[in-house]
Amino acid sequence: MSKHTHSFQAEVAQLLHLVTHSLYSNKEIFLRELVSNASDACDKLRFEALNDSSLFEDAPNLEVRVAFDKDAKTLTITDNGIGMSEGEAIDHLGTIAKSGTKDFMSRLSGDQKKDAQLIGQFGVGFYSGFIVADKITVESRRAGLKPEEGVRWVSGGTGDFETETITRAARGTSVILHLREDANEYLSHWKLKQIIGKYSDHISLPILMQKEEWEKDKGEYIQKDEWEAVNSASALWTRSKKDISDEQYAEFYKNLSYDQDAPLAWSHNRVEGSSEYTQLLYIPAKAPHDLWNRDRKAGIKLYVKRVFIMDEAEALMPAYLRWVKGVVDSADLPLNVSRELLQESRDVRAIREGNTRRVLAMLEDLAKKDKPAEITEGADGVTDVVSEEDKAQAGKYSQFYAEFGSVLKEGLGEDFANREKIAKLLRFASTSSDAVAVSLADYKARMKEGQAAIYFITADNLAAAKHSPQLEVFRKKGIEVLLMTDRVDEWALSHLHEFDGTPLQSVAKGAVDLGSLLDEEEKKAAEAAAETFKPLLDKLKESLKDKAKDVRVTTRLVDSPACLVVEDGDVSNQLARMLKAAGQ
Ligand code: ADP
Ligand code: MG
Repeated sequence: MSKHTHSFQAEVAQLLHLVTHSLYSNKEIFLRELVSNASDACDKLRFEALNDSSLFEDAPNLEVRVAFDKDAKTLTITDNGIGMSEGEAIDHLGTIAKSGTKDFMSRLSGDQKKDAQLIGQFGVGFYSGFIVADKITVESRRAGLKPEEGVRWVSGGTGDFETETITRAARGTSVILHLREDANEYLSHWKLKQIIGKYSDHISLPILMQKEEWEKDKGEYIQKDEWEAVNSASALWTRSKKDISDEQYAEFYKNLSYDQDAPLAWSHNRVEGSSEYTQLLYIPAKAPHDLWNRDRKAGIKLYVKRVFIMDEAEALMPAYLRWVKGVVDSADLPLNVSRELLQESRDVRAIREGNTRRVLAMLEDLAKKDKPAEITEGADGVTDVVSEEDKAQAGKYSQFYAEFGSVLKEGLGEDFANREKIAKLLRFASTSSDAVAVSLADYKARMKEGQAAIYFITADNLAAAKHSPQLEVFRKKGIEVLLMTDRVDEWALSHLHEFDGTPLQSVAKGAVDLGSLLDEEEKKAAEAAAETFKPLLDKLKESLKDKAKDVRVTTRLVDSPACLVVEDGDVSNQLARMLKAAGQ
């Protein structure tokens, strides 16, 4: 049979030059790319066979085989998918059609070093084979064509490639990599299995490898004729909810998170719309030790059509939800999407917003079921029936909040669109509850008539907050004050000016206006006192000139002679201490 030589499209030649001349930090992704092509080819066959089942010939079980030959130094990835005709091989393996790679090409700078980094972030599909191979042979036969209509495609990864017609009984494609000297590590069962496990575990087809057995006489592993699947081939998230048990969800979570405890809650959805993706999100039961590190890696794994793309996809979740674990599988993103591109992608933004909404909804639900006793007797006097399932949710929100409440508060400053929802999820201690269990809504429901604000005080700890002289008048009037002792409260609350139409007011700031809560007599007394003490105040102001901005007569004290307050809009004593401790 005659061989034909073809030139690569100029862009391909340029790309190959880069692939082969770049020291590449993440070499092993070539296998991910080739396995994903094999899997795509099987999907395509399955699709075409919907109209013509004869395409399956006598091999209806679609599979991928990965084999290596130590002597020949070859690694072969074979599928029995759709295959390629000679014309298709010339087109598909000689030109760049896909947008992802084109995009990649457009970002090349010509600077070897920078471009090498870029190639590390992208995969480059079929051509990534040349990262580890100095020659690639592709043998293929398209489903439906005769065995004599097969094709062999060969290239050394430089300017051109050769094709010839061959006879190939089996439908589908073999990609044979002739490994470079420095790529011998891939001639190892263990290594290949590890890479497949990392990137291709959830490919829905079996990926088969030959079994190996230890041969004592020879002192080495010998490959058997028996093949076994090395991937679990079960992308849990692609299955229907009703087919997945709670145990399976919990098991999957443990594998995903390396967490020994079962998750508190999860949510599994297929989202359709402008962006199509599947989300499976978990709320852990315990906070990790490095929760406070804002550089802590995000807990979301990104897949594109079941192919693993990256861990810790921080672009898919806002920072204040960095503790959520889960999987997102997108149908829209290109396989070779990089972290940089993720930040800019509109699809990704839609996924992040969808994930955020979902997590907040999960939390709302847990919060609602936290105390089932309270739901049984609704305000309308009607007794709602609490399902066993809901009862099982009792206490979970309190548990969640104790672990993650502080970091959730960061959302007030970070996620303006959801501020209202986050505010509803907050819980505090108060002058009527030592437990951190009072929601802003609870507080509002207990407000005194004429009370104009939600009052709070921040302090280092509960005892200090409770004994603050600034609370005296509130206590006397029976007005509840939220006691905030979390380090982030001051900062977080500075982003929340009101809740459900009621302003939030620190009792340690400015002239607290108790407004109509003071009776006439008290108001008169205050005015009189201000008059009487004016000379004293002037003297105090003079002698405290450098230390205090103002000295005022106050209605807020009952027993204590004096207290410090800060101006509205100034940092509070608590925050000032915190900043000082942080060295600012
Ligand atoms: P992509 O997979 O994103 O299209 P690749 O560079 O990975 O880009 O592959 C280029 C093209 O080569 C594919 O679109 C497909 O048409 C063809 N191809 C690659 N591998 C196979 C295969 N195993 N079987 C059939 N066609 C293949
Ligand atoms: Mg591909």
